[in-house]
Amino acid sequence: MIICNFSFNHATILFQVSSYINTMDKNEQKKLKKDLLTEKTNIEKVLGEFTTENPTVKGDYKSHFHSADQSDTSDEKAHSVTDSEQERAVEQNLELRLREINETIKKIDENTYGVCEKCSSPIDIRRLKVIPVARFCVDCAKKAILI
Ligand SMILES: [Zn+2]
Repeated sequence: MIICNFSFNHATILFQVSSYINTMDKNEQKKLKKDLLTEKTNIEKVLGEFTTENPTVKGDYKSHFHSADQSDTSDEKAHSVTDSEQERAVEQNLELRLREINETIKKIDENTYGVCEKCSSPIDIRRLKVIPVARFCVDCAKKAILI
């Protein structure tokens, strides 16, 4: 009887500990959503600058080259190519990040945040703290090399 009681309590404690580890409470989710919305606004602002200014910048480059031919060295040409490639990479990263943020906010709104998309088990809060936009639990991420 004593042993039975003990193991029951032990199991209860284990359950409480694991549910504490595995879930992010509503207040934390609310705070996270606020942070994500702020980041989203910033990214959209930057992306907006990229997309509206890109054609203008291209035009500007051309007029610069035409008006200042003496500084049109192959070195500068190489630089401008690298810059636009870097710009495109940054833009793609921002778009990817924006998609992650949108998906995460959607999950918070739909009360499905912190649940693995593959196996439906809760994602460890320690993982969520490091990667708030994590879509998979550690096990599934390890198996598929996904985030
Ligand atoms: Zn999983």
